[in-house]
Amino acid sequence: MEFKRRTVLGGMAAGAAILSAPAVLGQTRPRVVVIGGGSGGATAARYIARDSQGAIDVTLVEPSRVYYTCYFSNLYLGGFWELADMGHSYGTLAARHGINVVHDWAVGVDRDAQTVTLAGGDTLPYDRLVLSPGIDFREDSVPGWSVAAQNRMPHAYKAGSQSELLKAQVENMREGGTYCMVAPPNPYRCPPGPYERISMVAHVLSQHNPTAKILIVDPKENFSKQGLFEDGWARHYPGMIERVGPDFGGDIVSVDPDAMTVSIDGVVENVDVCNVIPGQKAGRIAELAGITDDSGWAPAVPANMKSRMDDNVYILGDSAAQGDMPKSGFSANSQAKVAANSIRHELTDARLFPARYANTCWSLIGTDDGVKVGASYEPTDEKIASVEGFISQVGEDADLRQQTYEESIGWYNGIVADMFT
Ligand SMILES: Cc1cc2nc3c(=O)[nH]c(=O)nc-3n(C[C@H](O)[C@H](O)[C@H](O)COP(=O)(O)OP(=O)(O)OC[C@H]3O[C@@H](n4cnc5c(N)ncnc54)[C@H](O)[C@@H]3O)c2cc1C
Repeated sequence: MEFKRRTVLGGMAAGAAILSAPAVLGQTRPRVVVIGGGSGGATAARYIARDSQGAIDVTLVEPSRVYYTCYFSNLYLGGFWELADMGHSYGTLAARHGINVVHDWAVGVDRDAQTVTLAGGDTLPYDRLVLSPGIDFREDSVPGWSVAAQNRMPHAYKAGSQSELLKAQVENMREGGTYCMVAPPNPYRCPPGPYERISMVAHVLSQHNPTAKILIVDPKENFSKQGLFEDGWARHYPGMIERVGPDFGGDIVSVDPDAMTVSIDGVVENVDVCNVIPGQKAGRIAELAGITDDSGWAPAVPANMKSRMDDNVYILGDSAAQGDMPKSGFSANSQAKVAANSIRHELTDARLFPARYANTCWSLIGTDDGVKVGASYEPTDEKIASVEGFISQVGEDADLRQQTYEESIGWYNGIVADMFT
């Protein structure tokens, strides 16, 4: 009997410790709602749920049942990767980590009442809200293009059916035809992404349609890893790729999706495939939540990724205006871990660690020809600042390039495990 009584008391004491730890609004468990189950959101939800061991109630709102990573979608275009390899479901987050995964759109945030409204009509209360909704496109960024025309002129900048469409268009392009990319203005998701895509399209065309041409219409003076890409294009795809920058009208561009034409500073070109990557802004729900500014992005506190406009709201990944980090999956994942630690500290008194951020962006230029650029970052009062960077060099030997490519595959497997398992 005595033994039993002690066990009960011990159990009660442990239970009391869990119940007293949150101490938010007198509820049983503090509630965190995460909007967006991508690189930032899935990581944050997983880390908060896993590391709080049930002390925090985590709900993840994400409309898609399968998340297709944008990373490696270029390799899918190039025939190096399958679509299925890029798709990940949310089942393990629910089953293993106890996350309440709600497949719906968040359509409103009431920051005074601390609630999120869903398209299906439900309302979710929160103590802390995490937003990681990725990007949306700026209307009129490329005159003539709209989401209504994305089937004729795909962006393929949100992965899945758009990636499949662009791949089919490239594979079915007429012999000797022209693939045109309208590249985006800064800042945008994945700085080397458009140029890795050019490499992968060139890889396919050089095998199956070697007289085809690639035209890049670019509003930017220069772009990420430019020297590495231009060197790689000259080695692998000589004479195939032409880039028109702003000095030749690359910033004065419009399209006609019905006629399949691109007008560059008034000169009209007929094209066969037209990949329009429009100008970008924070995912619309960040704007609806009132945490974006005139730039279209949502300012974040560098030390913890809180919104600068609301202490109870965190903003991660592409939507955030945070400083020097590029808009990448690696960045979003790195920011999510800092936010998750800050949230657990606030809601359960967990130990707070100083914020450290990192990023690397790998790109494949041709078979086994991988390059990378990256940095580590630290928060200052004003921004997340780059402290130490590295970049691949022109002229590296083939073994090193192959190693870099293999490193990128290791990174892919690591990040998706960090998000979904
Ligand atoms: C071609 C290409 C190649 C890339 N390659 C790389 C790479 O090699 N390495 C790298 O690190 N990064 C790469 N990226 C960038 C990377 O994909 C993004 O930076 C990263 O996914 C950003 O994470 P996020 O959480 O901000 O947004 P996302 O991962 O896009 O997640 C946003 C999620 O929010 C959901 N959502 C949006 N609105 C709502 C709403 N209202 N309610 C509920 N859910 C909502 C969306 O459905 C989506 O699942 C690449 C991008 C592209 C386009």
